[in-house]
Amino acid sequence: MLEKIYLANPRGFCAGVKYAISYVEQVQAANSGEQIYVRKEIVHNRRVVEDMKKRGIRFINDLDEAPDGSTVVFSAHGVAPSVVEAAKQRGMKIGDATCPLVTRVHRKARKIKDTHQIIYIGHEGHDEAIGTMGEASMFLVESPEDVVRLKDRIDPDKPLTYLMQTTLSVADTKNVVDQISKTFPFVEHPAKDDICYATTERQEAVSLMMQEIDAMLVIGADNSSNSLRLLQLAQKSKPHSFILSKRSLVEIKAGFRSSSIKFK
Ligand code: SF4
Repeated sequence: MLEKIYLANPRGFCAGVKYAISYVEQVQAANSGEQIYVRKEIVHNRRVVEDMKKRGIRFINDLDEAPDGSTVVFSAHGVAPSVVEAAKQRGMKIGDATCPLVTRVHRKARKIKDTHQIIYIGHEGHDEAIGTMGEASMFLVESPEDVVRLKDRIDPDKPLTYLMQTTLSVADTKNVVDQISKTFPFVEHPAKDDICYATTERQEAVSLMMQEIDAMLVIGADNSSNSLRLLQLAQKSKPHSFILSKRSLVEIKAGFRSSSIKFK
C-alpha cells in the first residue's frame, strides 16, 4: 500500500528540452502549410514526439527521407557537421534546435581538434555522442575499463584531453575521469566538465531523497539518457525503483485501482 508520494525537486523538462519544443513550434508557425521535418526524435520523450506528429510534424532518421529544399530541424541532441553539410548541399532550410549546452561541447571539440588527442566519455550510439564525435577524431569510452584499453592507442608525446556527453551519471563519470588521470598522468583536465546543470541537479535531488523513500518511479522515456541515469542512481540503494513510460503508467493505474492514490 502506498503511503506517501514525494516529488523530486527539480523535476520535469530542462531548459534545453523546452527550448527545442518551442523552436519546432515557432518554425511550424512561421512556415504554415509547409511540411516540417525533424531529424531524429526532437527530444527523447515519446509523448512530445507523438503530440508533434499529431500536429503534422514528420520525424525522419535520415535526411534522405526528406525532399531537396525542404525545411529540416535538427534535434536537441545536435548533429555532426557532415549532416549540416549534406543538408546544405541539398538546398534544405535548416533549423537547429540543439541545446546550447551541447553546442558548447561541439565548439570545444572544434577548438582542440588540431592540437589534442580527445577522449570522449559518452554512450555509444546515443544521438548526442554521434553528433559531437562527428566534430573530430575521438576515442569513445564508457567505463574505466575502456580507458585502460586505450593505453596503446594514445600517444604520450601528444597533448591529451577529454570531453563528455552532457547527460552522464556524475558519479560514474568521476570514476572514468579518475581512471584517465591514472592511466594518462599527462592528461590536460578541462577547466569545467560537460555534464549540464539540469543533469547534475536532478541526480543530486534523487540522491537526497533516497533515505526517505522505498522506491523511486522515474517518469521518462527508456531511450532518454537522463531518465536512465536517474533510474540507475535510484536502483543502487532502492532496487524496486523503476521507470514509468506512458504505457507502464497505464499498467500502474490498473494495479493501484484499489488504493487511495489517484492518478490524473
Ligand atoms: S544538455 Fe542538459 S539542459 Fe540541454 S537538453 Fe540536455 S539535459 Fe537539457
